[in-house]
Amino acid sequence: MTALPAHPPALPGHPHLHYEAGELWLERVPVHRLTERFGTPLFAYSRASMLAALSAYQQAFEGREALICYAMKANSSLAILQTFVEAGCGLDIVSGGELERALRVGVDPAKIIFSGVGKTRAEMRQALLAGIGCFNVESVAELDTLHAVATELGQVAPISLRVNPDVDAKTHPYISTGLKGNKFGIAHTEALDVYRHAAQLSGLKIHGIDCHIGSQITEIPPFLDAMDRILDLVDLLESDGMHLAHIDFGGGLGIDYQGDVPPAANILWSALLNRLDARGHGNKRILIEPGRSLVGNAGICLTEVLFEKSGDTKNFLIVDAAMNDLPRPAMYEAYHAIVPTLLREDATRIYDVVGPVCESGDWLGRDRALAVRPGEQLAVCSAGAYCMSMASQYNTRGRAAEVLVYGENVQLIRERETPSDVMRGERLWSPVTTPGTPSAP
Ligand SMILES: *Cc1c(COP(=O)(O)O)cnc(C)c1O
Repeated sequence: MTALPAHPPALPGHPHLHYEAGELWLERVPVHRLTERFGTPLFAYSRASMLAALSAYQQAFEGREALICYAMKANSSLAILQTFVEAGCGLDIVSGGELERALRVGVDPAKIIFSGVGKTRAEMRQALLAGIGCFNVESVAELDTLHAVATELGQVAPISLRVNPDVDAKTHPYISTGLKGNKFGIAHTEALDVYRHAAQLSGLKIHGIDCHIGSQITEIPPFLDAMDRILDLVDLLESDGMHLAHIDFGGGLGIDYQGDVPPAANILWSALLNRLDARGHGNKRILIEPGRSLVGNAGICLTEVLFEKSGDTKNFLIVDAAMNDLPRPAMYEAYHAIVPTLLREDATRIYDVVGPVCESGDWLGRDRALAVRPGEQLAVCSAGAYCMSMASQYNTRGRAAEVLVYGENVQLIRERETPSDVMRGERLWSPVTTPGTPSAP
């Protein structure tokens, strides 16, 4: 390689991804070494990036009573959870399965909070027996059910109510879950009544209040408005004689996918903590549930270009990663930057980057200027959050392998799934079946 392109492609948001001598590196590792060893498609995460993202939150809360509960639905691989738990985090879970993951990595159960609109009785029981720190309850029906389940077990469930702060949709059009008319949370106007109801139930103990206004929010004002709305309620509840030990402010801080410029977590939180202090609630324990902002820009997905295909109106690059590995483009028309792992001096062409799955929704990027040849590799950027955790096995494509990189060190944290992994648990129809009796497993 002699003359390299004057302008290597931008690498949005990734603190530890860079080009060196025409090659893409993650921390101190050229990424071709990862794919040579582990194949493609391959998710690779920078541990230093994860710790740096966490440290921005930790700085903001220094000297305060606060708990950062990583929202594991963003990426629930055990080594990712382990990294955050060892750095002091709690975990925000949304299912019994996620509870098992949390316990597997040895988090203190008191640092687990359980979110979600549809907890089953079995999940409530499982979480009570594990001794989790708090249930974030989203409806009256859920309150009543949790009270019943806790009473049966002779326990008292620690709760907070997820309140919908109803921040102004016109002012903040990209807010999705903090508005009236969505399935999440309890309406702001009903919160006082629901708290009074909860206070009557002997199987419950009120610990705090919770909100989560949406995801991929890249500005401070909606968070400040939500904080004000929540503090209005806290004032109202306290004047009604209720005691709230904590405020859980959810997650939602965005990352850089395409030149987005979200505030750094410490900048956002110094603004929010100032507001909290100014309104006389600076002594309350703060919980937060960040997901995407802790892992999104730490990860890339490496994929090999299988074929180049030129059509009348479009050129396609067919790659070996697909919508089952990276569902965000197909699900949300989300943008992920796609860059070559090797810079070449050829002129770029405009391509749609698509996967092998039999769906026209199976695309990873549209109209991308790239100079790459079959057999070479691409990196899909900002792929640390809501990619592997949403991956499926559609088309009997086993899920990709994952590696964690730290400095020069590389560890495989998830093996690539084989077809027999995918078929595990499936059974053939047996000709000898007694009517009405399920066959023995
Ligand atoms: C998804 C979710 C989070 C995490 O959101 P991010 O945008 O990834 O930070 C936190 N809390 C709740 C209740 C959630 O549903």
